[in-house]
Amino acid sequence: MSRIRSGTVPGVGLVHAPFSLLPAHLPEPFWKQACELAPIFNELVDRVSLDGNFLQDSLSKTRQVDDFTSRLLEIHRKMMEINKEENIRLGLHRSDYMLDSETSSLLQIELNTISTSFPGLGPLVSELHRTLINQYGRVLSLEPKRVPGNAASSKFAEALARAWTEFDVDSAIVMMIVQPEERNMYDQYWITKYLKESHGITTLRKTLTQVEAEGHVLPDGTLLVDGKKVAVVYYRAGYTPNDYPSEAEWSARLLIEQSSSVKCPSISYQLVGTKRIQQELANPNVLERFLENKEDIAKLRKCFAGLWSLDDEEIIKTAIEKPELFVLKPQREGGGNNIYGLDLRETLTRLQKEGGDALAAYILMQRIFPKASLAYLVRGGICHEGLVISELGIYGSYLRSKDKVITNDQCGYLMRTKVSSSDEGGVAAGFAVLDSLYLTDKVIHN
Ligand code: ADP
Ligand code: MG
Repeated sequence: MSRIRSGTVPGVGLVHAPFSLLPAHLPEPFWKQACELAPIFNELVDRVSLDGNFLQDSLSKTRQVDDFTSRLLEIHRKMMEINKEENIRLGLHRSDYMLDSETSSLLQIELNTISTSFPGLGPLVSELHRTLINQYGRVLSLEPKRVPGNAASSKFAEALARAWTEFDVDSAIVMMIVQPEERNMYDQYWITKYLKESHGITTLRKTLTQVEAEGHVLPDGTLLVDGKKVAVVYYRAGYTPNDYPSEAEWSARLLIEQSSSVKCPSISYQLVGTKRIQQELANPNVLERFLENKEDIAKLRKCFAGLWSLDDEEIIKTAIEKPELFVLKPQREGGGNNIYGLDLRETLTRLQKEGGDALAAYILMQRIFPKASLAYLVRGGICHEGLVISELGIYGSYLRSKDKVITNDQCGYLMRTKVSSSDEGGVAAGFAVLDSLYLTDKVIHN
């Protein structure tokens, strides 16, 4: 079964990842819509990543008030100055959605471009649900074929393997960047397993601190770590300030960026995934700068919720009056950072009083209200019944070598379910449980 390290549970080394006993229902048209969006978002990320000035300009105010974003931008600027080109570009993304019950529409929560989690454990939950429905489906009136297949881990491994092949050095390895106290290693393990068993590729796990101590770049750009040539750097860390406790980790990040290894993601891809860029892309006529196909643009726009930067006085006023209709988000990843309700009102009022650029550290988002339903959630071996809401994530893989798109696919999904009274959504952060999907014919109406 799926496991994560227990962290603080005394005397216990391992605990199963929390999961729901049966899959969450979703009308099939929304599933199809989300799958169709995956390759369009993949292409968008790639196009935006090539416009260095757009990234720098859009994040220029954020950089003044957010040290973490500022450090990322500093590396990005250095790469722009030396005209660093990434000929082989690999993205392993996950676009997250919630079904808004007010409008009966699928709206994007965010697009993750770094360290997208649970491609390993998500498919195990899909399999568990299919097995349970095979066994008890008659009693429950459920059919196993309505749980879509989920090959996220093998598809991610395949994309990494293809990038390795493009790099074209037989003795090279894939380096997975991990946190020193990694709780989610069994999710990552599946990628390592498929890389070895299906593709014959070795994965080396290293922290950024270790890369700084053991790594260097040869004059031809080759990154050597622990004496091994690195074909692909796959980040499962590096998305939060906690992953850079000292200058050593920033040096490692710069070293990797300067090398010729394929980076998943590059610093540009990571910046495209920031909340501020998400908000900027939702502004009128911005998508048109990056994509030509009008139908694709319309499909993307349809899933955008209301997003605002905080230089708009009018929206700040509305959010202070009706905080329950908004979410305030800083430029952070990994869960537990968003601000809701009365805290949102207080924070906005305080930041407005302080004046200056402090507001630029945040974006405002329309709050999405999914319909709650009853479910059984299993955590720490104990089953709880609760009123829950779900968030659907669709994985996407994108690989490009110079002018050739080698992969641009939807590749599996992750459903996360949480009690409806909880604002946050992360599984590893302790808010949600892993879930899968049960496709229904019905479209909800209010
Ligand atoms: P993070 O990068 O920390 O994952 P997210 O934007 O995904 O940030 O927000 C974390 C969680 O907060 C989501 O998983 C979701 O449960 C909830 N959330 C985020 N945005 C909204 C929104 N607009 N409406 C309702 N819930 C939201
Ligand atoms: Mg998220």
